Amino acid sequence: MLLDPEKITYRLVRSQRRTVMIRVEPTAQIVVKAPWSMSTSVIDRYVVSQRDWIVRKVEEANARLSLIPQKTSPRQVYLRGNLLSWGWHDADIILPSGISAQAAPQWLARWQRAAAKDHFSSVINEYLPLLGVPALRYSGFALRKMRRSWGLCATNGVITLNEHLIRTPDICIRGIIVHELCHLVHFNHGPEFHSMVADLLPDHRIADALIDAWTIIIDV
Ligand SMILES: [Zn+2]
Repeated sequence: MLLDPEKITYRLVRSQRRTVMIRVEPTAQIVVKAPWSMSTSVIDRYVVSQRDWIVRKVEEANARLSLIPQKTSPRQVYLRGNLLSWGWHDADIILPSGISAQAAPQWLARWQRAAAKDHFSSVINEYLPLLGVPALRYSGFALRKMRRSWGLCATNGVITLNEHLIRTPDICIRGIIVHELCHLVHFNHGPEFHSMVADLLPDHRIADALIDAWTIIIDV
């Protein structure tokens, strides 16, 4: 998307807030949050004053989006950052002949869930020994379909992972799993937590930026 600096189109969200804030969504859309009392001409002037920052953020978001392969057929599913074809023959994923076309989505959802269980547990087992004694707090992981979150770590040591995470690239999967495992050691987002994440996954910034773009496929 080319951005004409004089004509920046944005979605305006009014609220009780006191200040104006600009956010570029993972979809590259621009959202401006502003107080009720601020006139649209003031908001417009502010947006134009921030155009260099906005253009850069939109370009970054578009660059990340361009890395996501686009479906060219309805018979494709995402797995670990790639698109796999499915069908009853000549496909990456071969469905049993007893599965009808109507039953295929459900069968594929089960297949993806099983792939997620398998892959997530192998990544978790790879990192657990690096946590030291706090690894003993780990008490398993659960899969859940979540709209707003890729992963959670509860105080009882259970890690919940979004089952759609299996669709994203391996670096993103590692990013989320390492983040949640580090919460077994530091139950906050303080400096020690961040330095532990960086030690275990030096590419964590790339993982964080990429996973933001992949949120667009959560609803797919
Ligand atoms: Zn966290």
